[in-house]
Amino acid sequence: MKHKLIVGNWKMNGSMQSSLELVDKIITHNSPAPGDKISPHYVICPPAVYLQELNKVINKSVVKLGAQDVSEYANGAYTGQVAAEMLKDIGCDYVIIGHSERRQYCGETDEMIARKFLAALAQNITPILCVGESLEAREANQTEKIILGQLNAVIDIVGAEKFAEGVIAYEPIWAIGTGKTASPEQAQEVHAAIRTLLISKLPKEIARKMMILYGGSVKASNAASLFVMPDIDGALVGGASLDAKDFLGIGEAAKMPHTN
Ligand code: PEP
Repeated sequence: MKHKLIVGNWKMNGSMQSSLELVDKIITHNSPAPGDKISPHYVICPPAVYLQELNKVINKSVVKLGAQDVSEYANGAYTGQVAAEMLKDIGCDYVIIGHSERRQYCGETDEMIARKFLAALAQNITPILCVGESLEAREANQTEKIILGQLNAVIDIVGAEKFAEGVIAYEPIWAIGTGKTASPEQAQEVHAAIRTLLISKLPKEIARKMMILYGGSVKASNAASLFVMPDIDGALVGGASLDAKDFLGIGEAAKMPHTN
C-alpha cells in the first residue's frame, strides 16, 4: 500500500507570521500517537521568501518542504530566478513545476517545464509536474489528448527513467480555485489514462509506484471520495492548504489503517 501524498500550494499568500503559525499547527498535528493510523506524507510549498525560515521549524518534523517554481538554469545572469541548487541549500525536497498559473501568466512551455524537471532532479529535488486541460478542451472531448500530450512532451525530453523520479499532479484548469471539483469518476478516468501511459513507457512495478495526485478545489469534504479511487495517490491543494484545519482534514481523509 502506498502512503498518500498531500501537497499544499500556498501560492502568493500569507506573511512571515501567518506562515509560521500555519506550519506550527501542521507539525503539531503530525506527532503520531501509538496505535494511530498511517498518516499521509505532507509537503508544504510556501512562497519562496519564507522557505528558509520555515525550514528551521519543519526540518525536525516529518513534513517536507517544497518550492512553487525553479529556474531551468543552474546559475548565472537570470535576474529574479531561483536555482535548484539554492532551493536544496535551504531545505527543499520538492518543487512544483508547470502549474497552470505559470503556464498561463508566465508563458511556460512544455520544453521549459521539462528543463525545470531535469534541473530539480539534478539536485535531488522531486519535481511535482502539473498537467491539466481547460474547460473548452474538456467540452470538446480533448482531455486525454491534452494531458497525454503534456506528459509525453516532458517524457520525450527527460526520458522515461528520469521521469519516473517525479510526481504527477492532474489539475483540470476549470477546477482550480473555482470550487468545482472533478467528480471522483472524472478524475479517476484521467488518472487511469496517465497510468496506462506510464505502463507503456516503464516497467510495470515502477509505473504503478509513481504518484499521481489530483488537484482542483480539493477540500476535507470531498477528499475521501477522491482517495478511494485506485489511481488517485494524493492531492495537490491550493485554497484549502491555507487553513490548518481544512488542510489537515484532507490528510485525515487520506489516513490508512495499519495492516499488521
Ligand atoms: C492549485 O492551484 O494547485 C489548486 C489545486 O488550487 P485549489 O485547491 O484552490 O483549486
